[in-house]
Amino acid sequence: MFINHDYIENLLKETKHTTQEDIQAILNKAASKKGLSHKEIACLLQTEDPSQLAELFHIAGQIKQDIYGNRVVVFAPLYISDYCVNNCTYCGYRRDNSFPRRRLTREEIQEEVKLLEKMGHKRLALEAGEDPVNCDIDYVLDSIDAIYKTENDNGAIRRINVNIAATTVENYKKLKDANIGTYILFQETYHKPTYDKVHPKSIKGDYEYHLTAFDRAMEAHIDDVGGGVLFGLSDSKFEVLALMLHNEHLENTFGVGFHTISVPRIKKAEGMDLSKFPHLVDDNMFKKIVAIIRLAVPFTGIIISTRESAEIRKEVLKYGVSQVSAGSCTGVGGYKEHEEGNDISQFDLSDHRSPLEIIKWLIDDHYIPSYCTACYRQGRTGDRFMRLAKSGQIHNVCTPNALMTLMEFILDYGDSELYEKGTALIEKELSKISKPSVKELLENNIERLKQGERDLFV
Ligand code: SAM
Ligand code: SF4
Repeated sequence: MFINHDYIENLLKETKHTTQEDIQAILNKAASKKGLSHKEIACLLQTEDPSQLAELFHIAGQIKQDIYGNRVVVFAPLYISDYCVNNCTYCGYRRDNSFPRRRLTREEIQEEVKLLEKMGHKRLALEAGEDPVNCDIDYVLDSIDAIYKTENDNGAIRRINVNIAATTVENYKKLKDANIGTYILFQETYHKPTYDKVHPKSIKGDYEYHLTAFDRAMEAHIDDVGGGVLFGLSDSKFEVLALMLHNEHLENTFGVGFHTISVPRIKKAEGMDLSKFPHLVDDNMFKKIVAIIRLAVPFTGIIISTRESAEIRKEVLKYGVSQVSAGSCTGVGGYKEHEEGNDISQFDLSDHRSPLEIIKWLIDDHYIPSYCTACYRQGRTGDRFMRLAKSGQIHNVCTPNALMTLMEFILDYGDSELYEKGTALIEKELSKISKPSVKELLENNIERLKQGERDLFV
């Protein structure tokens, strides 16, 4: 198996007493974007020295700027079913928690999607508990179809990423045929003894089946897969190294690793007690983890959800995060119930701001909020996306697309304050574009958007 526990534990033992000089040499290497060995990643995970941490954050910020510019992709989760046969000790949806469970009907999904579209969302992460009877693959496929077919005014969901339980190659093929974006699955913990403990007697309790889900997804030709760890279950240094080994395994086997990595930290949920989890990750360690992931896999997107507070999100955006959720609800029918003030959630959230507030906040912090879904729709997925990213050409594609989708948002969902902030940002970014053909195309397209055309991208 590609997650060798002894190998990871030995690396962590060996690197416990790394000297400051060695850390400095690794930081210098990281700055030149030459990639990092497992041992070097382990060394960085061990460092506590404040000045070296400051340098680590600085380099991670530079790498992020070089590769992603100041674009930040915005999305929202959509919970379609809270039926679950598993008993994950950390989750509010686990089967031992008794509450009236439900799944959305096609009509209810369309109502939720219309609310999300009214907030300006174009990109969703579909979420569901695992239940082969109440939430089978046909139900998931029908939900995807319902979402893609729900349009109102200028709203349409253009990319659905899917976060459902590990399944078979056959089912992944069906998801691929349904035009999903990224298939997302968190390993939760790579540490097998912990995995077994927190997933008692359940389908999800099969560590190997869960760990090999992306192999089956890729076998089914899903190009973009998104990994993640639920930080707080086991030693976070072990988890980061294991994530990197998982990524390498996919690269070696299928030619492309994770499209994205999510970094959720465990939050209070119904029927669980946070004090029973001995590996909770504090803010300093969390920032270090994000920065090290950015150094280790510069071209992989890093996703942060509204589990984190506005302050933490602001910090980690500097060190490597490239996608944020906005205006999220983690309950089934949550968007409607949210409007009615009656939420039942999978876990607690910290950032409750609306997408409009988040967009303004990003602009104030000099980011370009992006609702772009062009790569997926142009077939730039998997290794084709990675080739574009690695060539550095991505700036000529992603920046104009980000600016066009921002303009759409301003026109369709903004207020006068956003119009002012947003158009000033677009002007400024336009002036920075050096390639005349790109600049001209973008200027024309911004005009066309103002005239009422939509969905322009390159
Ligand atoms: N049920 C599927 C599964 O478990 O893989 C789909 C995803 S589930 C709806 C989304 C994710 O929520 C889980 O993978 C887990 O990492 C996360 N989660 C569960 N309980 C949580 C908690 N208390 N705090 C933060 N995240 C949690
Ligand atoms: Fe079910 Fe997923 Fe929650 Fe586990 S994490 S109880 S599988 S919804």
